[in-house]
Amino acid sequence: MTSQLDNSRATLRLFLNNHPEIKYVSPTDPEFSSLKIIYNQSVSVAPMAIVRPQTANDVAALVYFCVGSSIQFTIRSGGNNIYGLSCVQDALMIDLRDINYIEVDQTKSSVTVGGGVIVSNLLRELSKDGLVTPTGALGFLGIVGWSTYGGYGPIMSRYGLGVDNILAAKVVNAKGEVVVANKELLKGIRGAGGALGVIVELTVKVYPLGQVLAGMIIFDSQDITSTYKNFNAGYQALLEDGSVPLELGIYQFIMNAPHGRVFALALIAALGPVMMNTVEPKTIADHIDFIGTQVPQRAYGTCQTVSIRKLNEDATEILGRAFEKMPSSFGTSFGVHELRGLSAAPNSDSVFSSREPHFMLELISLVAKEEEVNESIEWATGLKNELLQMDPKNLLSGTYISVTQPGDVPLSKIYGPGSNFEALLGLKRRYDPQNAFSLAVPRLVEQ
Ligand SMILES: Cc1cc2nc3c(=O)[nH]c(=O)nc-3n(C[C@H](O)[C@H](O)[C@H](O)COP(=O)(O)OP(=O)(O)OC[C@H]3O[C@@H](n4cnc5c(N)ncnc54)[C@H](O)[C@@H]3O)c2cc1C
Repeated sequence: MTSQLDNSRATLRLFLNNHPEIKYVSPTDPEFSSLKIIYNQSVSVAPMAIVRPQTANDVAALVYFCVGSSIQFTIRSGGNNIYGLSCVQDALMIDLRDINYIEVDQTKSSVTVGGGVIVSNLLRELSKDGLVTPTGALGFLGIVGWSTYGGYGPIMSRYGLGVDNILAAKVVNAKGEVVVANKELLKGIRGAGGALGVIVELTVKVYPLGQVLAGMIIFDSQDITSTYKNFNAGYQALLEDGSVPLELGIYQFIMNAPHGRVFALALIAALGPVMMNTVEPKTIADHIDFIGTQVPQRAYGTCQTVSIRKLNEDATEILGRAFEKMPSSFGTSFGVHELRGLSAAPNSDSVFSSREPHFMLELISLVAKEEEVNESIEWATGLKNELLQMDPKNLLSGTYISVTQPGDVPLSKIYGPGSNFEALLGLKRRYDPQNAFSLAVPRLVEQ
């Protein structure tokens, strides 16, 4: 008997007969298993097939076809949604990786990228012109997926979040048309990414910046609680008297290094006993490639998050104690992105919320070995629960969607406070009333 899935595949093949330029990879093709790989190895599902459009028009034809044939699809760019949402069992995976052009405008004030471009390729291309744009901390992230859901990264205090740097987008809408996003659609894209359409092209701001001082400082971590508490007491004091320049990007990171668990960050060496310091002049592209060597390239597990206003004594006490018990698996780690300066400034042209100075804590259980996942998640969940018991005045109600486990925090909180969530629901009703993009992040209609 022919299954629904076989029927869908047969319909797809008929459609592709008229679109030979779109590459088709079926589950029986040798490259299928490598092409379906995403960052999170715990998500072991098989899409119905993979299609690799070459142009915006190919994507438009695919969306038109899928909607007309009631075939569910996901969009895959960098493949780094932490919860594996770009690969869904039996859904068609539309893989944008071949739409990877990068064009710097003549005035060198913006760059236009195809929907499948990744961070490292963009930074390398920009560095040829002595330019930079804000990106995430790792080179393999998709630039569209990173920037359109918020976009936290090393130079955001000075230049803003990813969403703040988006100037324009070309989108395939729910009718399967390629359109230039108007002001209201752009507002939705700046925070809700692909929920309203497939972003086949994005134009973002760029800045002249050749080399920076960048690297990693590792503190003596034998007494990790004291080191961590002392650092943050000193850092908080510097923040409060306004002496931390916006040009300084710090990512606090507790990780299992070859010589044991350590507290690491970029710069401010004077606030703790330093064991290793690799800070030197380099390009941001080189720095990001180096950071990529410190994390598993593919991982099992998940990531949880809590956003807090201050890394005060209460918080650092809880954290310091948790670091002492942190499992030693490669990939179990803890990271802090700090929103201040431009990244914390309100932006009414975006539905991204949480616009106030704060620390976004990442409780990372993305480990290299599957058998080490449970212990890592147990540790991170315990830490999260303890953090949530802190003074409620120190807790933000919303969290960052890209590191929030689906279902953990309601979307109304993530896109609140204010009217951003209502605005987003209104945009969804207007631009995707039939929920063609039902499997996109965020899944708005399942609320
Ligand atoms: C190891 C690791 C480190 C990370 N570090 C950071 C960081 O430093 N800062 C930060 O802010 N985030 C970070 N993230 C989160 C990451 O930025 C988001 O998960 C992002 O959405 C990944 O985009 P992608 O294209 O790589 O992933 P994908 O899995 O390909 O895409 C995720 C989803 O985004 C949507 N999407 C992606 N591209 C498009 C498009 N062109 N059109 C329409 N929809 C699209 C789709 O719904 C897709 O399912 C990190 C994630 C991982 C795994």
